[in-house]
Amino acid sequence: MSITNSPRLGVLTEERGEVDTEPAADVLPVRVPTRVPHPESTKNGRLIWSYIIPIVGFHLLLPLAFVPWLFSWTGLALIPIGNFIFCSMGIGAGYHRLLTHRGYTCPKWVEHTLAILGVCTLQDTPARWVAVHRLHHQHSDQQPDPHTPRVTWFWSHIGWLFIENRQLVGINMYERYARDILQDPFYLRLERNVLWGWIFAAHALAFYLVGMAIGWIYTGTYLGGVQFGLSILLWGVVIRTLYTWHTTWAINSITHMWGYRNYATREDSRNNVLCALATNGEGWHNNHHAQPRAAAHGHRWYEIDLTYVAIQALECVGLAKNVVRPKPLADFNEEEASERQSGTSARDAA
Ligand SMILES: [Zn+2]
Ligand SMILES: [Zn+2]
Repeated sequence: MSITNSPRLGVLTEERGEVDTEPAADVLPVRVPTRVPHPESTKNGRLIWSYIIPIVGFHLLLPLAFVPWLFSWTGLALIPIGNFIFCSMGIGAGYHRLLTHRGYTCPKWVEHTLAILGVCTLQDTPARWVAVHRLHHQHSDQQPDPHTPRVTWFWSHIGWLFIENRQLVGINMYERYARDILQDPFYLRLERNVLWGWIFAAHALAFYLVGMAIGWIYTGTYLGGVQFGLSILLWGVVIRTLYTWHTTWAINSITHMWGYRNYATREDSRNNVLCALATNGEGWHNNHHAQPRAAAHGHRWYEIDLTYVAIQALECVGLAKNVVRPKPLADFNEEEASERQSGTSARDAA
């Protein structure tokens, strides 16, 4: 292992305090990550019980998955279906590729529908999600990235949600990183009165009631209805939410640690096959960090990205326009991407 003598990587080495292995001619340089302390703004931060209680509470319900009375194949099938509808469309296509990075445009009613689907994953409001994610892009794997695994894997996966980070609260954060989002009164309303929490509760109730009605009709008994309704609620909402939480959090943790790199970006992002399959495309995270605005996260023919397929389907029927395509790998200008990622404004970060 030796310090690279490439002038560009030399600068990176100095700035980031990390060591690069000598790159072979056709292999992207591998960086050995160094540790980063917890963000300064979390020092003496209080515990955020409004996150801890639901997150721990949902996990405590997990053993119910082993109760045969609460199992149904329909409920099990609702995990991949719900993952695609609520997480891939709501978070992947909505919160992330549309609202955060403006990878395409669409009519307001489509945008708001995607945002509501995202709210049903219980991953915070669109404005806050966007602001945190833009901060991540701007300072990836450096201070003050809110969730870099250079602190610890646990911190990047879940720990950062439990401790108050003063940088992520207050009007300044929204002003700087989500001003464009909050100009729309729809998103402003979602911020107020915990409306987003009520939307999640309403969708969970709808799952139960529809399941109960179907079960009642199918079995002809009230108890049969309750049993099927609870099964749909458990598998279609609780376990699906746990699944989408961990797969989304894995993008913050695992895809900044393990996987391959198509691009020598300035952070530790990786393309992780398992994460990409579990999230319908979000796991091609090195591609995404290299070309954040591109609506497609799979940049090689075998990097399957079903979320992008859905965006293309919306484009086919005229509901998505100005879809940003990735530059071919061969044409990729790394300097340009580096400048974009180290910019100072939310738009630069996006
Ligand atoms: Zn990242
Ligand atoms: Zn992003």
